Amino acid sequence: MADEFYVKFWGVRGSYPVSDPDKLEFGGNTSCVEVVAGDHRVIVDAGTGIIKLGQQIISEYHARPEDERKNGLVVNLLMTHTHHDHTLGFGFFAPAFSISTTVHILGPRMFAHDLEEIMSMSMLPPFFPVQLEDTGSMKVIQNINDSDIIIFEKAGEPPLIRHRNEDTNDLGDDVLRIYNYRTYAHPQGGNIIYKFVYRGRKFVHGTDTEGYYGGDARLAKFATGADLLSHDAQYDDEEYASGAVQGFGHSTPGMAVEVAKMAGVKQLGLIHHDPRHTDDKIYQMEAKARKGFPDTVAVREGQRFDLL
Ligand SMILES: [Zn+2]
Ligand SMILES: [Zn+2]
Repeated sequence: MADEFYVKFWGVRGSYPVSDPDKLEFGGNTSCVEVVAGDHRVIVDAGTGIIKLGQQIISEYHARPEDERKNGLVVNLLMTHTHHDHTLGFGFFAPAFSISTTVHILGPRMFAHDLEEIMSMSMLPPFFPVQLEDTGSMKVIQNINDSDIIIFEKAGEPPLIRHRNEDTNDLGDDVLRIYNYRTYAHPQGGNIIYKFVYRGRKFVHGTDTEGYYGGDARLAKFATGADLLSHDAQYDDEEYASGAVQGFGHSTPGMAVEVAKMAGVKQLGLIHHDPRHTDDKIYQMEAKARKGFPDTVAVREGQRFDLL
């Protein structure tokens, strides 16, 4: 449906995947989000959640009539940054291994390295059996900057990158626009916060960021009026106050609530759950956050949010 705009979370665990039975209601896979806007599909991050999504994409592709498959499969992946919990699944992402796939990957330069170089480094032997260049698909990997708008105009076509000051009104109603900026509230080299805008609705993905005193005003401004803000909420207040995790680049639900209120978002999703936290613990953190911002959900793996 052309008007459909939804966000589905395939991995909401931070730092490393877990499989303990008392953590599986919220899920054990690491960061991966699917954004579907009309005919466009964009994936954010390649944590272990991307593995299952990749299998689904391949099955959907094979179920299509043959004439629709003649141009091959096109997959779009945005990277927030390249810590392990956001890249670990890429080596097991089935579409990347298919010769009929084109994978567009966009994300930040890090430490003077192009994204292509960093993605390649994440799969180098002796740490991984297959190198990026041997994965079979055609890969188009591009750096992006704060000043860029990434534009998806027609499904199956490559993303366009325009400068933020350029007029994009010529592109019509069905265009998905993605804005971004780099936050430095995550070690080392920061992390990209993305905003997806489609037919007047907005989704902001604020993973891997640590709150500031008085609230992260820059993020609040960027997320103003968003229909959904997903925000890092890895630690509880006691863990954070103890000092042991300060500076690690992650927030508490209280920090997420502060931004949600300042930005006047409709709904807040707490993500990047600590791998040590059980389902019960996350429920407690969700309940506490709801006292500050009632429309808060601790996001579960597989959960889908329709932006209406
Ligand atoms: Zn992370
Ligand atoms: Zn990180």
